[in-house]
Amino acid sequence: MPVTEKMICITCPMGCSIEVTHEGETLLHVDGNTCPRGEEYVRRELTDPRRMVATTVRVKDGVHPLVPVYTARPFPKPRIFELLAALRQVELDAPVAMGQVVLPNALDTGIDILASREMPRSSS
Ligand code: SF4
Repeated sequence: MPVTEKMICITCPMGCSIEVTHEGETLLHVDGNTCPRGEEYVRRELTDPRRMVATTVRVKDGVHPLVPVYTARPFPKPRIFELLAALRQVELDAPVAMGQVVLPNALDTGIDILASREMPRSSS
């Protein structure tokens, strides 16, 4: 049975409000997108929604106890909580370099998790 819902395209800062009619993963009608990327976004949302994820992981002997990290590519949305749980188990040894892979191939997705800043070792 067809369903009509609203989605906000997050592809660019315009944030178009798009009205979508679909039946499962089959797109029937799209309205409100200012450019073709809006329809691509809607298709992805229906079949394989993904988000960039940013969080922190623990660092042993660093000048701060946590370092910010992010997904190298958008991550499958249904598995984000699983990813956050896996990252809570990670503890890095200082020093940490900016861009360092802190968790390779997270949850077998082929997506690495990277440090978004350096974390020097504490002098004490
Ligand atoms: S539909 Fe196009 S213009 Fe609108 S938010 Fe998406 S990418 Fe931006």
